[in-house]
Amino acid sequence: MIPKAVQELIRAHTGPLTRELVQKPSRFGLGQLPVRNHPDATTTLVCGFCSTGCGLNVHLRDGEAIGLSPSSDYPVNLGMACPKGWEALRVLASPDRATTPLLRNAGGKLEPVDWTTAAHTFVGRMRSLQERHGAESVAWLGTGQATVEELAFLGALGKFGLGMLHGDGNTRQCMATAAVAYKQSFGFDAPPFAYSDLEESDVLIFVGANPCIAHPILWERVMRNRRSPKVVVIDPRRTETAMAATHHLALQPKSDLVLFYGLAQMLIERGWMDEDYLAGHTTGFDGFRAHVANYPLEVVCRETGLEAARIEELTRLIHDHERVSFWWTMGVNQSYEGVRVAQSLINLALMTGNMGRPGTGANSITGQCNAMGSRLFSNTTGIVGGRDFKNPQDRADVAEILDIPVEKIPDRDSWSYHEILEGILQGKIKGLWVVATNPAHSWINQDQARDILSRLEFLVVQDMYVSTETAQLAHLVLPAAGWGEKEGTFINSERRFSPIKQVSRAPGQALSDFRIFQLIARAAGLQEMFREWSSPEAVFQILKRLSAGQPCDITGIEDYQHLDRAGGIQWPCPEESGEVAQERRLFEDGRFYHADKKAKLLYEAPRPMPEPPDAAWPLILLTGRGSVAQWHTQTRTAKSDVLRKLAPTSLYVEINPTDARKAGIEPQQTVIVESRRAAVSAKAFLTPQVAPGQIFLPMHYPEVNRLTDAVFDPYSKQPSYKACAVRIRKAD
Ligand code: SF4
Repeated sequence: MIPKAVQELIRAHTGPLTRELVQKPSRFGLGQLPVRNHPDATTTLVCGFCSTGCGLNVHLRDGEAIGLSPSSDYPVNLGMACPKGWEALRVLASPDRATTPLLRNAGGKLEPVDWTTAAHTFVGRMRSLQERHGAESVAWLGTGQATVEELAFLGALGKFGLGMLHGDGNTRQCMATAAVAYKQSFGFDAPPFAYSDLEESDVLIFVGANPCIAHPILWERVMRNRRSPKVVVIDPRRTETAMAATHHLALQPKSDLVLFYGLAQMLIERGWMDEDYLAGHTTGFDGFRAHVANYPLEVVCRETGLEAARIEELTRLIHDHERVSFWWTMGVNQSYEGVRVAQSLINLALMTGNMGRPGTGANSITGQCNAMGSRLFSNTTGIVGGRDFKNPQDRADVAEILDIPVEKIPDRDSWSYHEILEGILQGKIKGLWVVATNPAHSWINQDQARDILSRLEFLVVQDMYVSTETAQLAHLVLPAAGWGEKEGTFINSERRFSPIKQVSRAPGQALSDFRIFQLIARAAGLQEMFREWSSPEAVFQILKRLSAGQPCDITGIEDYQHLDRAGGIQWPCPEESGEVAQERRLFEDGRFYHADKKAKLLYEAPRPMPEPPDAAWPLILLTGRGSVAQWHTQTRTAKSDVLRKLAPTSLYVEINPTDARKAGIEPQQTVIVESRRAAVSAKAFLTPQVAPGQIFLPMHYPEVNRLTDAVFDPYSKQPSYKACAVRIRKAD
């Protein structure tokens, strides 16, 4: 039974859906549609977990998937897949799949409703909030897990159609730092590498990255390197990758910026820069030189805890080798000063001329399967296609291409993720639409985040699973199809567009996110605005037009079949490209995207750690990926029997034996880990992998973010998950 108030809202704020849709909502359910397009016994699509973007051959019977194997001729993974990829189909079948829209009734219970009611309720209640509290009182939080076309649709529907000013993605949690760092340094969010660079480097420097378990197929690519490379890991923990590396620099947490400024200083002192490259392709070197003069070796040793000889050895490694590449992930990005740390690596690559050549680059490896699509096409941090909301010409161009009034395009940036949550706390945002993400688990300082979400007048969660922590708080749940149950494209870490395909039926009434956006657009009376947005492939053609002339130009990609034939295609691929090489890096011509075609050397004094350890809170908490079998909040990976067996079932904490001894903690004992925000229990795992004074918790378990401290990088607004002060004790 739908509450009377809700029925009135629906009547007041929505237009009629088409007769066909009202009477036959099931027509739009993928579960009722035959799986199409793949008469062959096998078809290739990219994996839907991480940003590596491995090609998987899905084997079909009567058009439906019956199994998969890694594709041996796909240029990314060359016949390899990690356990998550192998289990990608199995996580689709689960009793907690959302199979029908659910609406919370007057008694507070979620009860099934049909799609017509769901779409009308969505539009009616969002519009009612906007009428009462202003257009900006509703917002969305998106994802890096949906397709490029879906993210573009969400962004266009939210901003241009429904008048939401504020919308952000969960990519804010993982990739915002890299995106901002590239944008400021290069003039565009442009990771410069191809995966072949992993095989062509003489020295690979991994910073805050553990590819052995986080990007295992990329680590396999390192193993294929025939140049006997030096592999340097810079990480406070002795991670799996550090153990396999030739060099491990276990620096003090959050001393990385000092280390990289110190390396730059030492290179400059010794005259080990590429003066020609600096003069021809960069700006800001004089200021940078003066800045890093403040970081002599003794300061770097004191701040990082590293021996002088180790720092000198690394400086010499960079100087002595022709091809040096720098790779980073969350250890850099998830920091209160992540943008400047990323740029300190970019600076090292630029000043030594390690850019645009094989085996070089300052290379951010992305996290989610389509984080790159979210960064470029989701209408959150910039207008679709890498444009700027504040630029009148950009707004006019997009309005013309989409044939919409230019006034529909906001002239201001959206609030970031944490600003949206603060907006809820301040009563400015009353309605939130959460698509394919789980902030009640993954957001920093989780208890506060849950409290904030519970204050919403209307929370809509669109997800594959009804069991997520966020879906449990929702007023309306929209059941979504997942990877393998829909079509579209993803963009991987090396800028490769690749197709995903429907090889399985979504359960019950679940719809692709694309279909859900179509339904909402119709319920909102926006058919005319979105008349061209009829299918994912139609949207792909719109995105081609929007990309024209941009650094991410894809006008040379014909269609999905072209992507299929080519094994994916990296951007840029402008119309005149003709046949393009399978693996391409950027900046081979030394021309960047700023107006002067030069890269900027950017720098700033390091900031103090927001919550340093002290007598009461003597340990630093590090967080990160726990195992190769776990993905983020485990919403999907926990559904596979195989993946569950490959990872501990409950939270464990890595403690150095010295610290354990001091606290009287024995192996496998239950301990309490406590921060200023919360206390959680975990099993003690004693290991020298973490240094004394530090502990490590894997991020996949819901308890972990009850401890973390909500501080953010000032430029990227990315949360700083990696270091806060804690203490441990034996459980009573
Ligand atoms: Fe999928 Fe990433 Fe594993 Fe490749 S490495 S199979 S893309 S999860």
